[in-house]
Amino acid sequence: MAEALTPMMRQYRRIKGELPSDVILFFRLGDFYEMFFEDAQAAAPILDIALTKRNHVPMCGVPYHAVDGYLARLIRAGRKVALCDQVEDADASKRIVRREITRVVTPGTAIEDAVLESGRHNFLAAVVRDGDTAGAAFLDLSTGLFYGEEADARDGLPGVLQQAAPAECVIPAAAAEDPELRRAFREAGTATVSPGDDWPFEYEAAHDVLVRHFGVQSLAGFGCDGHPAIVRAAGGVLHHVREALRRDVGHVRGFRVRQAADMLLLDDATCRNLDLVPRPGARRETTLLGVLDVTRTAMGARLLRDWIVRPAADPDRVRARHDAVAALTEDRALLRDLRDALEPVRDLERLVARLGSGTGNARDVRAIGASLARVPALRDGTAAHPAARIRALGEQLRPLPELVGLIERALVDESPLTIRDGGLIRAGYREALDALRQTAAEGKQWLARYQASEQARTGIKNLKVRHNKVFGYYIEITKGQLGHVPDDYTRKQTLVNAERFITPELKEYENRVFGAQERAMGLEYELFQEVRQGVVEQTAAIQATAAAVAELDVLGAFADRALALGYTRPVITGGAAVRIKAGRHPVVEQMPDAERFVPNDTLLDCGANQLVILTGPNMAGKSTYIRQVALIVIMAQMGAFVPADEAELGLVDRIFTRVGASDDLARGRSTFMVEMQETANILNNATPRSLIVLDEIGRGTSTFDGISIAWAVAEFLHNHDRVKAKTLFATHYHELTDLARTMPGIKNYNVQVRERNGTVVFLRRIVPGGADKSYGIQVARLAGLPPE
Ligand code: ADP
Repeated sequence: MAEALTPMMRQYRRIKGELPSDVILFFRLGDFYEMFFEDAQAAAPILDIALTKRNHVPMCGVPYHAVDGYLARLIRAGRKVALCDQVEDADASKRIVRREITRVVTPGTAIEDAVLESGRHNFLAAVVRDGDTAGAAFLDLSTGLFYGEEADARDGLPGVLQQAAPAECVIPAAAAEDPELRRAFREAGTATVSPGDDWPFEYEAAHDVLVRHFGVQSLAGFGCDGHPAIVRAAGGVLHHVREALRRDVGHVRGFRVRQAADMLLLDDATCRNLDLVPRPGARRETTLLGVLDVTRTAMGARLLRDWIVRPAADPDRVRARHDAVAALTEDRALLRDLRDALEPVRDLERLVARLGSGTGNARDVRAIGASLARVPALRDGTAAHPAARIRALGEQLRPLPELVGLIERALVDESPLTIRDGGLIRAGYREALDALRQTAAEGKQWLARYQASEQARTGIKNLKVRHNKVFGYYIEITKGQLGHVPDDYTRKQTLVNAERFITPELKEYENRVFGAQERAMGLEYELFQEVRQGVVEQTAAIQATAAAVAELDVLGAFADRALALGYTRPVITGGAAVRIKAGRHPVVEQMPDAERFVPNDTLLDCGANQLVILTGPNMAGKSTYIRQVALIVIMAQMGAFVPADEAELGLVDRIFTRVGASDDLARGRSTFMVEMQETANILNNATPRSLIVLDEIGRGTSTFDGISIAWAVAEFLHNHDRVKAKTLFATHYHELTDLARTMPGIKNYNVQVRERNGTVVFLRRIVPGGADKSYGIQVARLAGLPPE
């Protein structure tokens, strides 16, 4: 045993040596993937399997046919796994079987359903720093989505990372210690950072990889001109996935640079402060996504999430979406039909990605066929639609009838999970397969006849022809009948009550039937590969269909929400003002135990109403109000209808928020420090097209310092022409209401309360003027503080 192990162990060590040390090697031995040494020690507890020892080597293993489940558990635990398979037949020669790494799966490159969340992308990011600029690329291997973005390495990068929330980020090894990148990963919460080779991130090499992958002359069509850092990150990540991880990237068919100018930028703090999407482990219902997400498909759910954290800032695009939602709300029956037609469409993006990388099964192919079969109905529903955007999306849908027909003809309805054991191809699809199956079936009839004739010949009534894995076919005769056994039977095995025999006829039968069965399975596998190839060849068309389905789904969801929750169409103007009549907070108004929501108006512009100072007691509704304005702007720019009687706004380029005193000790910054960093970010980056929401600035320090800081911030926002952003400023400090006396662009408002018998009644109405007192005592009493 020890001798036999040595050359294999040498092979193991060589292959293990090709991998970074944090990758767990699954080493194929017969029907198992085995892990050794520290890999075994690390994996056994995560997989909940027994750790054993052979020749003092710790090891553990998992059966090959169940490998996906085990893989998923390790990936979810943040580990990386390399699969090493036998690449020649075990009995081909006496030497040790050749083995190679066939794929490496990491958190950022998982395509297994068991690891993925259907409603969100799973990105592998790459980041390259070029002086003050950072180029980032995001690749979702599970859907083929691939885009790049540029940002200021200090202020912008954490937000860009945060929005995509990549499961993993690869960087050139030389940048592993870059303090700016490390800070960005820490702030964005990017847990897995993987160093890769440096050279693929160099411009020439990266450019070359991209040009060749996409088969294009230049990258200008992707918007890459003038963004060398993005090209480096994108080429680097593609190379990393293909070469270092040995993964198939054929389904990655496009790349696009996201331009900041086309988007409403929301930084990390703003996404958190406004509860746009659920944070890990948090409740979904209390977020904007929770209120809006009535999408019917996984693709729609993912797109909606993207639109929430990246609303548009291109007026034509926003208006086209509003037109579409308006048209959809006008005909409820049509809307219902459209949404119902979407319901059975499966996750085309992920299915096609899986099949493209060679891991999908017949069920995946059938799911694609069944989904594409819905497309004609969807097209019919959109063909004469009054909204141009809906018609355009309808035209983007590709029904692919030949492919649907092929899948329907070739594959049985209830496909098995495995693709190597037969049972997936329909009878009548291919003559050669039918013939092999016929032979195998005739063999079975022969078997029944043979048993009957042997019973007659020997006179043994209970003679049975049976089969097991070890002996193949045999004849079983009970102890009492052994005297009647003829001479041409060969004894194979003795049991307590019976003996087992074989005969030459039986052996010959076995060869014939087994041969036929085995060849039938082989042929089925080949035929399946042909059908799979048929799908893969249509990758681009299926991806285009998936993108159209996603957008139809989101627009349909917007229309549904508009009708169900009483939202109205916002008007996008060319100006800078935000006017809202009877606006509501989309999430607070839905809280099941909430009081009746009191709507409020808003007027913000770059002139006399640039900065609103909102005062009022604790719990009056200040935070709710200032957030609701930001949320209405975000919803409008996503293309959705909004919770207001009327809303009219010029497009906003960025929304900044400073809400509450959120502790961020996990990331090593004190409350006050966080607050000042976020405030600095706002003052440095806001423009007259921005919207700023400030809640209780300066609370983390002494009252005097706090007022001074808040005062200076308000003055700065008001006085600097570069900034002059529309601002909502909720504060406790009544002193700030004095600002309005000297500054023409500052207006005071307060949240009305009434005092009745010594307690306060919140009216939730925002009215002009400063609050006269803060009712701190009354609120304390409401909260149940003892009178003393
Ligand atoms: P503040 O910021 O003034 O301390 P909040 O905005 O946190 O107050 O509001 C306190 C609570 O009052 C909220 O949780 C919400 O339930 C309720 N509330 C706020 N605004 C409204 C409103 N316009 N209509 C109904 N309830 C509201």
